[in-house]
Amino acid sequence: MHEMSIALSIVEAVDAKARQEGAGMISSIDLLIGKLAGIEPESLKFCFSAAAKGTLAEDAELVIVEPEGIGECGECGMRFPVTFYYAECPSCRSLRIKIVSGKEFLIQSMIIEEKGE
Ligand SMILES: [Zn+2]
Repeated sequence: MHEMSIALSIVEAVDAKARQEGAGMISSIDLLIGKLAGIEPESLKFCFSAAAKGTLAEDAELVIVEPEGIGECGECGMRFPVTFYYAECPSCRSLRIKIVSGKEFLIQSMIIEEKGE
């Protein structure tokens, strides 16, 4: 499953980072996943809880922000919402469309907690 390998790489990255910082646990992780990134947030959350078992991210909450897909026309410069990579400019019908938003996939930030006691 696609989402499972993504979940595993997120867990690996945040777990390593949290250990580096001497954290006791990770309480929350902010992810940016564009609507065109091809990642299903619900499926990712499901996989994440399985992937995080036994790591510092085990009890972390995933907060997912999903930027809309926005294309920009290479001919007339118009910006418009897109739901797919191959879009046509609604103004001049050009197919020279650059995707300016919606492909994002990154870990924005995370909240860690100190070791207890
Ligand atoms: Zn255009």
